[in-house]
Amino acid sequence: MKQTKLEQLELALHYLVSVLEEGSLVERYDKATRESLADVLRLLVEKVNDLPLNVPDNLVQATAVRAIIAASERSNAVELANRREKLERSQREVEASASIQGHLLSEWEQVKGSEMEYQATCQVCGGFVYVSDTSVYNLLLDTCQRL
Ligand SMILES: [Zn+2]
Repeated sequence: MKQTKLEQLELALHYLVSVLEEGSLVERYDKATRESLADVLRLLVEKVNDLPLNVPDNLVQATAVRAIIAASERSNAVELANRREKLERSQREVEASASIQGHLLSEWEQVKGSEMEYQATCQVCGGFVYVSDTSVYNLLLDTCQRL
């Protein structure tokens, strides 16, 4: 089998990506760094494959930057989804405990100017609860009492 240098390079890159993802041969890199590098390399191979032949060198070089940008957008999206999941979990937990305590919570209302902060009040006692993806301030009394 006769391979071109390009095919060898691509094969080596695919292997490098799998080595980075698996991690045991490159233990000195932390997991997040390995995943970022693997993602950039995978995207680089994809984007170079999509390039037409004989484009100017600067466009080929630009694929490296585009690979880094695309990988970082992807990791931001994943991080955002994780934060939203934590936020929603906190909301469900607060709703469950409030309901056991007899409170009747309003709909969650987004705190103005913040994407990950929500508040709700008890429609009977006026008690207040605030949640974000990182914290919960629960000012509801142990038992709901109309004031
Ligand atoms: Zn209440």
